[in-house]
Amino acid sequence: MKAAVCYEFGKPLVIEDIEIRPPAPGEVKIKNVATAVCHSDIHLVRGTLPFPPPVVGGHETAGYVEEIGEGVTGFEKGDPVVVSLLISCGECRMCITGHPNLCEYPWERGADSPYRNQKGEPVDQGFLIGSFAEYTVVHKSQVVKLPPDMPFDAASLLACGVATGFGAVVWRAKVELCSSVAVIGVGGVGLNSIQGASLVGAYPIIAVDVNDAKLEAAKQFGATHTVNNTEVDPIQAVKDLTDGRGADYVFVTVGSPQALEQSIPMAAPRGSAVWVGIPNIKDTVTFSPFPVFREERSIIGCWMGNTNLKNDIPKLVTLYQLGKLKLDELITKRYTLEEIDEAMETVERGEALRNVIMF
Ligand SMILES: [Zn+2]
Ligand SMILES: [Zn+2]
Repeated sequence: MKAAVCYEFGKPLVIEDIEIRPPAPGEVKIKNVATAVCHSDIHLVRGTLPFPPPVVGGHETAGYVEEIGEGVTGFEKGDPVVVSLLISCGECRMCITGHPNLCEYPWERGADSPYRNQKGEPVDQGFLIGSFAEYTVVHKSQVVKLPPDMPFDAASLLACGVATGFGAVVWRAKVELCSSVAVIGVGGVGLNSIQGASLVGAYPIIAVDVNDAKLEAAKQFGATHTVNNTEVDPIQAVKDLTDGRGADYVFVTVGSPQALEQSIPMAAPRGSAVWVGIPNIKDTVTFSPFPVFREERSIIGCWMGNTNLKNDIPKLVTLYQLGKLKLDELITKRYTLEEIDEAMETVERGEALRNVIMF
């Protein structure tokens, strides 16, 4: 099959034919139709994530079930599905208490990658999906069935960016009606926090970003106010929009230490700073503990929107079908696999919300 392989960090991806093995017991082989490009894929090909080359990125994918491994039930060849990097055993403490996004089983493929290049070398499968390729082999827990009329490009977005941003608001923080929300970073994740906040009836909903085009987009997704933090002090600006109190919930969808530090004084007394974006593993942050202590602010960690894949993805599909969740509007452009470097570069330059590779 054709795949876009990263042989060297920072270099163009190599489009070449590689081998993919059949699904093992518990696995499913997927024929990819649409794979979105996420910032994490850019981190992967730039070498800031623990996936050594050669590696295939791509982890927001939708397509058809092609082949089913032994012991897998509930799927048939030809089923339309969406695939996520969330993988779960169904048996550990986190899984049985309803948090499969935090599954404690040590999932790793390493040398057991389903991909081999023409020299017979193992090619790593980024995020246990590696869907910048015509096919992928994944664990059954990563796969969720779609209704037949769900478009694949829109569906691919559900796997990561939409679930993460929307889930942070709705499933993790459980934002209440009329509470105030600020979202720092309104790209492919933050816009979904904005639309989640809009759906649950938050007010005001304040988008904070450095990019005027993204702030403009945020208004289409339900932001009631925007703050360009290159022009004003974002903490003061959010306070000015919330009777001087700060926001009840501040969602940080970027991983920068500065944004994480700002989120605490930006939150109101008893408010919460919700940390959604992936920070660099080597970063540290510095903030005064006093506002956390004295006014009972909370810091809430949030991994992948606290998404319970098999339960929550169908809800997102329903909201899309009802016209309450915008997905098509998140797609800036569609590309072929051969154009993948361009698709990634425009995301990296902040010129695209989500680009989608179509097979
Ligand atoms: Zn992602
Ligand atoms: Zn588990």
